[in-house]
Amino acid sequence: MEAVQRIVIENCAIATVDAKDTEYASGHLVLAGHRIESLGAGRAPEGLENVVRRIDATGHLATPGLVNTHHHFYQWLTRGLATDQNLFHWLVALYPTWARLDEPMVHAAARGSLAMMARGGVTTAVDHHYVFPRGSGDLSGAVIRAARDMGVRFTLARGSMDRGEKDGGLPPDFAVETIEDALAATEETVRQHHDTSFDAMTRVAVAPCSPFSVSTELMRQSAELARGLGVRLHTHGSETVEEEKFCHELFGRGPTDYFESTGWLGEDVWMAHCVHMNDSDIAAFARTGTGVAHCPSSNARLAAGIARVPDLLAAGVPVGLGVDGTASNESGELHTELRNALLVNRLGPHRETALTVRQALRLGTHGGARVLGRAAEIGSLEPGKLADLVLWRMDTLAHASIADPVAALVLGAPAPVTASFVNGRQIVEGGRLRTADEDEIARTTRAQARRLAAIAAQD
Ligand SMILES: [Zn+2]
Repeated sequence: MEAVQRIVIENCAIATVDAKDTEYASGHLVLAGHRIESLGAGRAPEGLENVVRRIDATGHLATPGLVNTHHHFYQWLTRGLATDQNLFHWLVALYPTWARLDEPMVHAAARGSLAMMARGGVTTAVDHHYVFPRGSGDLSGAVIRAARDMGVRFTLARGSMDRGEKDGGLPPDFAVETIEDALAATEETVRQHHDTSFDAMTRVAVAPCSPFSVSTELMRQSAELARGLGVRLHTHGSETVEEEKFCHELFGRGPTDYFESTGWLGEDVWMAHCVHMNDSDIAAFARTGTGVAHCPSSNARLAAGIARVPDLLAAGVPVGLGVDGTASNESGELHTELRNALLVNRLGPHRETALTVRQALRLGTHGGARVLGRAAEIGSLEPGKLADLVLWRMDTLAHASIADPVAALVLGAPAPVTASFVNGRQIVEGGRLRTADEDEIARTTRAQARRLAAIAAQD
């Protein structure tokens, strides 16, 4: 048997984000194969065998890789549109364009989204893809291929919509699926791509889009399908006041009560946004272990409101962070969401006690891992966990004079990523992707964005 190869990283500050928030002002990490073997203060122990690489990380902060729990990769091709609209008007403005997506467009958009996240320290990402126009090709396969090629750990949240315009929904009718087609295609995607192993690089979740674009029947049957297959459930929930009103008018109850009535609360469920929640909604999430993907930039961009993150955390609800689609968060980066989560929540009723910088880092790492049901594998730097980690450069003009490296990461300018590892494999070096050509991706995504705009303009 071939001996496992070791990589030693030394002389960096380390924020482990373990249960005790253990930190080292100057420490070391030993990676063995695709796992973290050991870490601690000072230099690595002498006498380690099969060390293939030693990294002097002086001037850096090591953290767990960031976990992005909510995104829509396809939106990379429709950034900077409908910039002054709330959610419903923004959706109505964009759906006709999204309905023209095809496989080359979705593949290019996925590569753009993944590249942007990866070079900013994301090591695990979710794509909630719910637009499957008839005859558009194998969109799920295209996204999964892009994530594999980039080397990012990935969950495809296979979405669906069946409430088109003729049923009082927002999307054009040709961009929605029937219940039967959506469920069959989702089941096929799970059977083909979902990997249950401890170190899985690809997982699949069942993810109908939202209460206002999906019928009650599809919500219900999606939950049954996911539980039968043993995969997680994801959707949008309680995002805006308009959605809350829609739920009361159509279902005679608020979003959380509606979710409960359709089997959509549980520890195998995570939901994006959860902005408009009352105390009893939060208690229901806590009681059932339902997770939340907090997306502060998108919530601000679409004027959705401020999610009650301090109250969710106090109640024990698992909370992670999400970029959300880049049509409502053009930067496409997650490390800025650490900062925005803290700032946005401090504008709420808890003011300066809303979130600490360490809580913000925890949301973006361990919190995200919990929300995805993967806290045993990723989300903190601990022996035995998978080697998903980031070295942030802290000794340049932007950060060198900030006393606390975690405060520098969360409150300072976006820190350059010197190295990012996923499953022990380095995917970023010196701020650049090692697994793809960024300039080529920029050209390809621009060409596909223009193609999409041209096709949509013919309608
Ligand atoms: Zn979203």
